Amino acid sequence: MNSQELSPSAFQEKILQWFAQHGRKDLPWQIETTPYRVWVSEIMLQQTQVATVIPYFNRFIAQFPDVTSLAHSSLDRVLEYWAGLGYYARARNLHQAAQIIESQGFFPTSLDSLMQLPGIGQSTAGAIMSIAYHQSHAILDGNVKRVLARFNAVEGWPGHSMVSRELWSISKRFTPVDRVAADYTQAIMDLGATVCTRSNPLCRQCPVSGSCRAKRENRIKEFPASRPSSVLPVKNTVFLLLIRTDDAIMLEKRPETGIWGGLWSLPEFSTSAQALAWCGEQNLCIAKRQLLPTLGHTFSHFHLKYTPLIVRTDYPINNVMEVNQTVWYKSDQNTGYGLPAPVKRLLETIDLNLKTAVDR
Ligand code: SF4
Repeated sequence: MNSQELSPSAFQEKILQWFAQHGRKDLPWQIETTPYRVWVSEIMLQQTQVATVIPYFNRFIAQFPDVTSLAHSSLDRVLEYWAGLGYYARARNLHQAAQIIESQGFFPTSLDSLMQLPGIGQSTAGAIMSIAYHQSHAILDGNVKRVLARFNAVEGWPGHSMVSRELWSISKRFTPVDRVAADYTQAIMDLGATVCTRSNPLCRQCPVSGSCRAKRENRIKEFPASRPSSVLPVKNTVFLLLIRTDDAIMLEKRPETGIWGGLWSLPEFSTSAQALAWCGEQNLCIAKRQLLPTLGHTFSHFHLKYTPLIVRTDYPINNVMEVNQTVWYKSDQNTGYGLPAPVKRLLETIDLNLKTAVDR
């Protein structure tokens, strides 16, 4: 039997039966499926696994239980509750979209109107429409892409428009046209997340394994094809850890757009010489300084290599430095600042080793 022999309705039936027996039905966003909660969960689940998302989702929803509370919150507050999940544009878009919905006075109820909002693409809109409104709309998130690409042995990288179009067409063909679309959507996402996993899929537990082309041809690892190999560009930078006499560290707010937009981070320089020159321009007397080993963080489109430069100054506590958008930060005293995860980790380490790490 091949995949063509399994009709869309037979495929749906197998997936739905599997979901009824084995699927997860008690995830926090499945318990009360309002459009708002489905939306927040779908955005969080992009690029992030369910187990990681659950605590973030619970904290986020406790703080922002509805569109109104999210729209009226400051972006800083939203980013604080997002910090650690990465891909911060998602949080900025969520906040901006909540403000648009709030000003419209109602949550959009059509695929097209959802897709007008920042950060909502066709798959997220489809998931909201099917799970929250019980309407038939296809989705194609990372998990579904993987299942369908393997099941149908779809060649090529899904980032290419032709491959994406083919996968969308398969997804639409396999999506039920009636109200069970809500269950089907959750079922196929769950199958991808728990059975048809990226590495070592559990094909023996898969309800459609008998018709899966990738399995039959023993080519599972080939699907979905990875991005054509292009080496990610590397950006080198120096993070300045400027430390005051009370051990507070200077942070500056990053621009609203771009990497880590709107988060609080360490001042960045191209070289340590430039960082030290900047300290000189601020008339800071450098008591001690030390370069730490270079660390790395990979973004989707480049690799960041950052070298922390610790500079301890005799800068008095009460002086105000004339630099915009900066704060003096102590991890045990300051809360309410959204920090990128690598910077947070670095600050936690530095806090522990501050006295011994700094050297003349
Ligand atoms: Fe994925 Fe294996 Fe099922 Fe094919 S048989 S869809 S590879 S879990």
